[in-house]
Formats: sequence, C-alpha cells, structure tokens
Amino acid sequence: MPTYQYIAINVEEGCPRCRKGFDLRRPVDRAPLTECPLCKKPVKKVITSVNTPRLTKPMSLSDAKSAGFTVLEKRIDGSYEKL
Ligand SMILES: [Zn+2]
Repeated sequence: MPTYQYIAINVEEGCPRCRKGFDLRRPVDRAPLTECPLCKKPVKKVITSVNTPRLTKPMSLSDAKSAGFTVLEKRIDGSYEKL
C-alpha cells in the first residue's frame, strides 16, 4: 500500500497536522483524499520523489564508470562496444 503525503491547500486554515503535511497509507484504488481527516479542510496530495529519485545533474560517462556501471556504446555496425 503506497503512502501519500497530503498538505492543507490553505495552510492558514488547516489544523497543525495538515498545515505541516501528513502521510497517509491508502489503497491505490481509493480516490485521493480531498479533506483533512481531522479538521475537514481541503488538502492536496504532495508529489514526493521518494520512489523516483531525480538526478540533480546528468550523469557523465566517467561518473557512471566510477559508480560501477558498465557503459556500452552502440557502434555503427549495430554491435555494442564496452567502454
Ligand atoms: Zn487538518
């Protein structure tokens, strides 16, 4: 079951819980939460990058190699050359 993070749309109106944001475990097939379970003020889902970490910068070839990746370059004849 994924955990979603919610936060009050109007942070001034929310209770201390949703003003700071809260996590909620919720089945995928359930509709997204639209109001705070405590104060019933509207909340919105926060898109977190917990499961999909973003790279802050493109990985260079040397970075990839030093990180232990095997870097393959496609050659003109269609085969792959290990760099
Ligand atoms: Zn609230």
